[in-house]
Amino acid sequence: MHRAAWTVLLGLLATTSIHAAEPDITLQLRWKHQFQFAGYYVAKQEGLYEQAGLSVRLIQGGPDAAKPLEALLAGEVDFAIAKSGVVIERMRGEPVVALAAIMQTSPNAWLVRADAGIHTPLDLVGKRLMLMPGHESAELLAMLRREGVDLDELELLPTSHDLDDLVEGRVDAYDAYETNEPWQLKRKGIDYHLIKPRAYGVNFYNDVLVAHESLIDQEPAVVDAFLEASLEGWRRALAEPEKTAAMIQANYAPERSLAHLQFEAEGLAELIMPELVALGHMNPGRWQSIAESYVALGFADGPVDLGGFLYESRSATDYTMAYRMAAGGFFLLLLASLLAAHFARLNNRLRREAARRMAVEERLREHQAELFRLANTDALTGLWNRHRFEEVAGREIRRARRYGHPLSVIFMDLDHFKPINDQYGHAAGDDVLRTVAELIRECLRESDSVCRWGGEEFLVLVPHGCPEDAYRLAERIRQRVKDCHDAEGGGITASLGVASLGESEDLHGLLQRADGALYQAKEAGRDRVKVARPVSDS
Ligand code: GH3
Ligand code: MG
Ligand code: MG
Repeated sequence: MHRAAWTVLLGLLATTSIHAAEPDITLQLRWKHQFQFAGYYVAKQEGLYEQAGLSVRLIQGGPDAAKPLEALLAGEVDFAIAKSGVVIERMRGEPVVALAAIMQTSPNAWLVRADAGIHTPLDLVGKRLMLMPGHESAELLAMLRREGVDLDELELLPTSHDLDDLVEGRVDAYDAYETNEPWQLKRKGIDYHLIKPRAYGVNFYNDVLVAHESLIDQEPAVVDAFLEASLEGWRRALAEPEKTAAMIQANYAPERSLAHLQFEAEGLAELIMPELVALGHMNPGRWQSIAESYVALGFADGPVDLGGFLYESRSATDYTMAYRMAAGGFFLLLLASLLAAHFARLNNRLRREAARRMAVEERLREHQAELFRLANTDALTGLWNRHRFEEVAGREIRRARRYGHPLSVIFMDLDHFKPINDQYGHAAGDDVLRTVAELIRECLRESDSVCRWGGEEFLVLVPHGCPEDAYRLAERIRQRVKDCHDAEGGGITASLGVASLGESEDLHGLLQRADGALYQAKEAGRDRVKVARPVSDS
């Protein structure tokens, strides 16, 4: 009797203490254990969760594991790591809330073999591409769409999760994380190339920590505690990547090499940008534009309303103890002054925090401007690239049609450029390209624009330019190129083709005619300008 009573009592104590102090919290990871989830492992191993009164279980993902969002919405787990597509679920009415965006920029990219001759999104047309299901990798599609690729022109296959399909050429492009799969190719000695959405103006968050709305309603303190401990875990993980990699290998991913984990760590640091952005930071404006991209892709219906999607802490501070102490009377004055000092400190901290945030936002804006520049200019010459040119030309064509202005283009190709490379080396060839770019720029009016179309080909857009204007400009450029290099004794010439916009012609047709004129200039002996015959609109 006596003994039985003790057992019951101990049993009761044990269950109440477990429930009161350590709710069993689960986090569904997106993939197998790897550095990608470093912060959570560190929070667990270094006792941060425990100190916050949480007992946390990290559930590994993978091709056969539960999909994080599905598991979360089904109430099977408390927290999950989602991709930016989580905002689509929110727009579809699912009660999911974003707590923190770990990666400020997404590692998702098309991975191709270097020998596949694929360099830009346009090169993927007609190719076999392996993609994660649903909207998992929607940013890869958003990039293709933005670049003008019709998704029907692609052969999209569900991913096999087997990189050998790419290695052995069964597919041309593979939906990958730049921090992970390239490592496997590197080890096999296979050269690869990544086509990254952010290089084409698609810059989404990734690895977003999410929770179910009902957990936030019912257990706000647990959500706060989990979030805070996780972010601290991330800070520590990124501060000591080598130690963290070793810990992950020892406790979670014994099958991964240390070198692989460290490769991942380096790549992740660039995406998380810990020295630039507060860990987990989310900008409502950026979420809005991500959501709008998804609407444009047809994954969700607009207009976008993200009310309730971004987490705001709800757990209130408990002042009961403070009131009790105050009621004691004796400490009242002391307490009041302590509180005043505390609030003053808090106020200062808030002010500092606000200033820091503003600085961070500013740097983020600069960073985005830099990304824009990178995505739109040609690295060698600093001229606009093809992508940017097409955007501007498209706009100018619409304007020309609206107001009935003429518009012309000049296609230019250097003559016998290959021998320059062959004779003097590629670097000398690059110098020539830079010089020619500068010469063209000097010949242009402010409203004209020029891009490096590729190799040693340049395209000039002459808005408001009739064929005669464009011809004169082309002649001026041709002469400048010829003169400049005569003076240096090197001697290079260029051939140019001019075409003017027909009434119902599009950019593609216009460029084709300019290219045709260029071809005629080459055929006729190079170092000359030819004008394409006007289109006869019937
Ligand atoms: P053509 O008069 O018929 O135009 O003769 P070409 O030698 O200029 O013709 P082609 O188009 O066959 O050769 C272009 C060469 O441009 C091939 C390549 O070696 C060179 N090239 C392309 N891109 C670059 C680059 O970025 N830098 C350098 N240095 N050379 C380049
Ligand atoms: Mg050429
Ligand atoms: Mg050439």
